[in-house]
Amino acid sequence: MARLAGMSDFTQLDPAERILMGPGPSTVPARVLRALGSPTLGHLDPQYIGIMDETCALLRRVFETENALTFPVSATGMAGMETIASNLVEAGDEVIVGVNGVFGARMKDVMERCGATVHAIEAPWGEIISDDAVAEAVQAHPKAKLAGVVHAETSTGAHQPLEGISQIVHDAGMLLVVDAVTSLGGHPVRVDEWRIDAIYSGTQKCLSCPPGLSPVSFSEAAMEVMDRRRTKVQSWYFDVSMLRDYYSGSGKRAYHHTAPVNMVYALREALVIALEEGLEARFERHRQMHHRLRDGLEGMGITYIPEQSLHTLNCVRIPEGVDDATVRGRLLGDYSIEIGAGLGPFAGKAWRIGLMGHSATVRNVDLLLAALREAMGR
Ligand SMILES: *Cc1c(COP(=O)(O)O)cnc(C)c1O
Repeated sequence: MARLAGMSDFTQLDPAERILMGPGPSTVPARVLRALGSPTLGHLDPQYIGIMDETCALLRRVFETENALTFPVSATGMAGMETIASNLVEAGDEVIVGVNGVFGARMKDVMERCGATVHAIEAPWGEIISDDAVAEAVQAHPKAKLAGVVHAETSTGAHQPLEGISQIVHDAGMLLVVDAVTSLGGHPVRVDEWRIDAIYSGTQKCLSCPPGLSPVSFSEAAMEVMDRRRTKVQSWYFDVSMLRDYYSGSGKRAYHHTAPVNMVYALREALVIALEEGLEARFERHRQMHHRLRDGLEGMGITYIPEQSLHTLNCVRIPEGVDDATVRGRLLGDYSIEIGAGLGPFAGKAWRIGLMGHSATVRNVDLLLAALREAMGR
């Protein structure tokens, strides 16, 4: 690698162009990288405010919502989870959370840190949270303020249906909170139709933008719950009551924190690309690529772990006698392909193959299948 004169301790920055087929980030299109490299504006510059307002309007389309309070939180997906938990939960509240993988467990942890008593609905890894289990939980804990579930559990590949749960949760007078980090832009996420009250996502998964922002959206009912708080939100940075004026187009644009201006350009471009393709066409592409991959893997004797699999994240069993690290090392070293390792109880036992956004192409699927065959057969 080239070295800078006089700076022999530093190599020149020259990241490889990987084929990103892990649990995120996904491959970022050149258009998005060019947007990221556009001139930096001041974050209160009227030109930037216009770009930000457009970005929020584009986010509403991708979330399929009319929610006024829809904006990108200035940090990665976990920050969206923290924003929603810290604004909706007050110390002493009861909440219900579905736990069937890493991200459900994190949602429980984050809500507990906000002072909630969390009633967990546990399901085995790889399975979904059933409507019956949710009905039982809301009956057992009628005072719960909200129920949270992970739409796309990236640690297991399970695809959580939301419509039945939404009905049960709303009939009980609770709010529905959804983690859509690995589904937004790859699977339908119909916020208004499914009556989701608070939802967060990330930029680096099916939107194919670099990591750095967390799109969120709040319903009117969620805003009312925030308005009725008895206590201040513990987090200063994520306090929506202070961010609201900046994002909701009320005209009052005061300094809260410096918006990550260039990341917002990148997100804006990524959203335009998604809408140019058309959301339904984009979901169909993810479905087709999932089946193409699935047919190839199953033909090689590799089986899927979840019964209800996501299209965007394919969690499969590593065949007997195949060494996890060796194969992933060969994929990365010889083909520059990244796939994900198993987490927690799936470590060494599962691979997580992402087909997200710009990475979900025929070329990538066929290349991965050929590379995997070669890497396992050696
Ligand atoms: C990736 C992911 C997150 C966290 O997002 P970060 O950008 O890593 O902070 C949360 N939930 C799910 C389901 C995810 O896949």
